[in-house]
Amino acid sequence: MTDSAISIKNVSKQFGDTVVLRDINLEVPRGQVSCLIGPSGSGKSTLLRCMAFLEEANAGTILIEGEPLGFVEGPNGRRKQTAAELRRTRSKIGMVFQQFNLWPHMTALGNVAASLRRVRKMSRKDAEEKAMAQLEKVDLAPRAHHYPSQLSGGQQQRVAIARALALDPTIMLFDEPTSALDPELTGEVLNVMRTLADEGMTMVVVTHEIGFAASVGNNVCFLDHGRLLFHDTPEKVFAAPRNPRLEQFLDTYL
Ligand code: ADP
Ligand code: MG
Repeated sequence: MTDSAISIKNVSKQFGDTVVLRDINLEVPRGQVSCLIGPSGSGKSTLLRCMAFLEEANAGTILIEGEPLGFVEGPNGRRKQTAAELRRTRSKIGMVFQQFNLWPHMTALGNVAASLRRVRKMSRKDAEEKAMAQLEKVDLAPRAHHYPSQLSGGQQQRVAIARALALDPTIMLFDEPTSALDPELTGEVLNVMRTLADEGMTMVVVTHEIGFAASVGNNVCFLDHGRLLFHDTPEKVFAAPRNPRLEQFLDTYL
């Protein structure tokens, strides 16, 4: 068993002529929180989406808990994974986006249960039972029967987190989960994430919340123009003297 939850080797990605990721190498250790920071357009979302195979890298390999993602080496060379193989690998991954993407016509409970019914083919009763347990975990049981329009942005994002957790992922990917929220609502979402981290969930978090990266992150990765300029512990990354590009980034976001 490998110690890496996610192992990224020589990954490059371009959209047409635009090179977005340049030869990325990164190990995400099991049970740790890796925060991905960097200027807008530096490739953070693309890298995260590659980890979930929502984007296909043009070169390189990605292993999820030692298993190939997207492609496998066979006797006849590299081949695409079958849909079933891909589904199995991807089922280890939960993802939370900046936009919560809840169904407006379903309650909080309905949103979480819908994924369980669709993906896990659970009965309505079992799905709703499990969904309620997940909503309790994010402190939203009292709001279970509210519709998204009746919930604050922070509450909606916590529902989205519950929805991802309900599918029992071993790795959670977060893409700027608090960027769409009013500042007074970011704390409740970050607290849920902090609890998840304390419980030992493997997490990759794209964030501009430098305080969160410094206090919860085990590793901080800095992306700039598609290059992983460095990754290290927050103590080392944020200690002076800093890399000039990081300095410039922190001046903008702190
Ligand atoms: P970040 O999340 O760090 O802001 P992104 O990964 O979203 O950066 O984007 C990196 C670069 O890739 C940007 O220049 C963006 O315009 C480009 N890009 C992202 N997605 C696409 C796409 N689907 N098609 C073309 N260009 C894209
Ligand atoms: Mg982004």
